[in-house]
Amino acid sequence: AAKQAGRNQYYSYTPNLKAMAERNLTIVNGLSTALAKNEFTLYYQPQIDTRTNRIVGLEALIRWNSPELGFVSPAQFIPIAEDTGMIKSIGDWVLNAAFKQTKQLVDEGYADILVSVNLSAHQLREPLFAERIAELLQQHELSPRNVCLEITERTAIFDSKKSLEICRALVELGVSLSIDDFGTGFSSLSMLNRFPFTYIKIDRSLIQDIAMNVNEAKVVQTIIELADRLGMKVIAEGVETEQQFSLLCKLGCHEVQGYLRGRPMPTEQLKVFLADDKH
Ligand code: C2E
Ligand code: MG
Ligand code: MG
Ligand code: MG
Repeated sequence: AAKQAGRNQYYSYTPNLKAMAERNLTIVNGLSTALAKNEFTLYYQPQIDTRTNRIVGLEALIRWNSPELGFVSPAQFIPIAEDTGMIKSIGDWVLNAAFKQTKQLVDEGYADILVSVNLSAHQLREPLFAERIAELLQQHELSPRNVCLEITERTAIFDSKKSLEICRALVELGVSLSIDDFGTGFSSLSMLNRFPFTYIKIDRSLIQDIAMNVNEAKVVQTIIELADRLGMKVIAEGVETEQQFSLLCKLGCHEVQGYLRGRPMPTEQLKVFLADDKH
């Protein structure tokens, strides 16, 4: 579009930047009262075991319904919450809400469900974060076996020594850890050995073309083999087509998550979805 605008491109960019800055300001202001006004909810997206074809896990994904902006993507507001320090209270709200809902699912008969919660870098720098998780588990009478915490490469790298200690303490508690968005950003293979991950989540960008491009498939195959050798499990993100799904099954990918098998959904819908899966 910028190319088409040609000589006018300067003029067409300026108002966009202004609009973006204004939007970000609206987000900052809105976020500061969003918790108090109860504007957050958690959606859950199913994770399917490729061998049994059953739902074995759920990823909790935050949703913000802003009165001014409507639904705002977490990809947009989470970085702003991190920059402004608001992530601390939002992150704690997410953990509380996810643990509460997980406990309900366990009590409703989904005893083995594993619910994954995304962490931000700031949470992994709180010296007492593992203690906070222990406290929340106890408070909700939830077993650590039902909880997985997702860490992106960026998150863990941020302050690796301290983060590593926290990760070890978390595993000691009995919760699982995933490395999220694997294959994007700062993929350091040495980190796979240093951090006690149970799961590798292959980023959607690496899954996208596997059914059309042999080399893309080979990369994914290699990650799966690597995970096998390290005793880790692989979850493929963003699985949208049957072709991707069957190829991933063939490659021995342990779990899939994506629109093909279920979009992120609110809890009422999730309960219907889980009940269907039981039959
Ligand atoms: P993520 O953790 O990698 O989550 C997966 C994202 O991919 C979700 O976007 C999900 O809706 C989307 N997705 C799942 N399957 C498909 C698919 O088949 N196709 C496509 N195109 N997309 C798919 P969402 O919910 O918008 O979240 C975006 C990111 O925001 C997350 O990426 C995560 O990094 C962050 N986030 C979400 N919830 C939280 C949270 O509670 N705390 C923190 N710190 N970050 C969160
Ligand atoms: Mg995630
Ligand atoms: Mg991810
Ligand atoms: Mg991702």
